[in-house]
Amino acid sequence: FSEIIDSLGLKDPFVRNWVDLLAFLLAGVKSNGILSAEMIYMFAEWYKPGCTLEYPLHGSGAVVDALVRGMQKFSGRISLRSHVEKIVIENGRAVGVRLRGGQFVRARKAVISNASMWDTLNLLPSEAVPKSYQERIRSTAQCDSFMHLHLGFDAEGLREDMGIHHIVVNDWASGVDAEQNVVLISVPSVLSPDLAPPGKHVLHAYTPGTEPFGLWEGLDRRSDEYKKLKAERAEVMWRAVERALGPSFDREKCEVKLIGTPLTHRRFLRRHRGTYGPAIQAGKDTFPGHSTPIPQLYCCGDSTFPGIGVP
Ligand SMILES: Cc1cc2nc3c(=O)[nH]c(=O)nc-3n(C[C@H](O)[C@H](O)[C@H](O)COP(=O)(O)OP(=O)(O)OC[C@H]3O[C@@H](n4cnc5c(N)ncnc54)[C@H](O)[C@@H]3O)c2cc1C
Repeated sequence: FSEIIDSLGLKDPFVRNWVDLLAFLLAGVKSNGILSAEMIYMFAEWYKPGCTLEYPLHGSGAVVDALVRGMQKFSGRISLRSHVEKIVIENGRAVGVRLRGGQFVRARKAVISNASMWDTLNLLPSEAVPKSYQERIRSTAQCDSFMHLHLGFDAEGLREDMGIHHIVVNDWASGVDAEQNVVLISVPSVLSPDLAPPGKHVLHAYTPGTEPFGLWEGLDRRSDEYKKLKAERAEVMWRAVERALGPSFDREKCEVKLIGTPLTHRRFLRRHRGTYGPAIQAGKDTFPGHSTPIPQLYCCGDSTFPGIGVP
């Protein structure tokens, strides 16, 4: 996409940084790595007259509920809390999945995985996967992980015009993909008061795909070292929240304070190394499609074209 920006002669550093930020938040790569089609589609949406960045009413769970209703309406069956232990291969074809606990679910037509490419590979018997495919997955660049801060606090005394979304960039010059530099903040209870008890707010702040997993790898979540690092690396999010919400916000008065690290992200989102997703640069490489070298095994989700992001 940066080639299009170049061709328009846009050199203003703030505009370039802003475009980089939008690209990075959308796709985990800056404007020199994002697919032009994605940016053009998103720009057309964002800058439609009257368009604002909102949040799903009743929280992101409402989106999931809508998907479930859609599946059920067309007679689909959903098994929640069903961990897939292995994708079962017979005579070179994917024939079903083995769940934790041993249950085998046979696929009538195909197995489709929306786990990340690295997690899907771990579900397959290695002898069934061509070495070149394994190699391609293992060598695909990964975006970093996340720090998260989840808060619950009293709404009294806070700015009336607090808004739902804030982006804090500490230093434009160090780049929007630098560690501990950009913090995203959402206060969805501003729009959907049912997400918090009466008179309270919930807030989620995070560093978007800029927290290196390597800093956390191998740490024991109960150790003092982990707790110390957690407090250190969360400070940037606390400061960003204080900056966005103003002096009437007091971190000491928060009734809920939960900090998530790349280990938390890996555990709850069940993504390899807690990654945001593949960091595939448009123009240098292409996103995998949806078929795989294993007959009857397909992949979808953000490890496939067009990559990270819900649209
Ligand atoms: C903090 C944050 C903010 C974001 N904001 C935006 C945004 O504003 N707009 C946007 O477009 N995108 C956003 N994204 C990106 C977007 O959420 C992802 O790209 C998208 O959710 C990926 O969908 P997916 O189905 O590919 O993977 P996932 O959402 O990761 O779903 C994979 C699912 O597979 C399950 N799973 C994994 N392994 C197994 C197993 N062995 N057995 C059974 N189930 C398993 C996981 O539990 C998970 O539910 C954001 C991401 C994060 C983390």
